[in-house]
Amino acid sequence: MTPILFVTDLDHTLVGDDFAHEQLNEWLLEARSIGGKVVYSTGRSRIRYQELALEAPLFDPDLLIASVGTAIYSSLDGAPDPEWQKKLTAGWDRDRVMAITAHFADLVLQPETEQSAFKVSFLLTEEAAIELLPQLDHLLKQQGLDVQLIYSSGRDLDLLPRYANKGSALTFVRQTLGFPPENTIVCGDSGNDIALFAAGSELGIIVGNAQPELLSWHRDHPTPNHYLAKSHCAAGILEGLQYFGFR
Ligand SMILES: [Mg+2]
Repeated sequence: MTPILFVTDLDHTLVGDDFAHEQLNEWLLEARSIGGKVVYSTGRSRIRYQELALEAPLFDPDLLIASVGTAIYSSLDGAPDPEWQKKLTAGWDRDRVMAITAHFADLVLQPETEQSAFKVSFLLTEEAAIELLPQLDHLLKQQGLDVQLIYSSGRDLDLLPRYANKGSALTFVRQTLGFPPENTIVCGDSGNDIALFAAGSELGIIVGNAQPELLSWHRDHPTPNHYLAKSHCAAGILEGLQYFGFR
């Protein structure tokens, strides 16, 4: 068996079905014992990841990509990767981004734990998002700010530096760890995971409970590299591993 780089989202992807999760853990630990690496890629900050780790059967990953790709941790109590932080500073001005978002009353700032140097996060209803997102995008561009807007699960809006997302962080990590895309598996369920699937020719497993925004992206970008599972959460990942012949 070839060593595999396994990169997975947490909420509603790896986490959500403890029985299947524990079954998958066995496969992951075995994959790791022959040189594979396990990376969690989450929208959560490291603090909120640690909260989740107390509730779900998560083992410590080889790397944690936190806050939608804006921080990479090789140790759960160490500093974020400085090389990655340096890449993110290009074209990013957090104070000016905050000043522009202040014009929109529908944007509700998420708790302080979800904010970071390279991420500004709001709650936004789906109804308000339809008109607000294009207006905000236009205003940011007009002010010369190169910012990505990532809207997930009909609720979370993340404003990130242009270069930062789960996909660019995946590519950075994959190259740093020395895995080719064909030996890399990515798993996800929602809008911020689209960048994982769009990164390149990695194998992708979309869990059966995926959100509409990811399903519609998948429909528009068909490729034999991606498998849409019928089962939900970790059971969907197990189904995908079987489909690709890994178990
Ligand atoms: Mg998720």
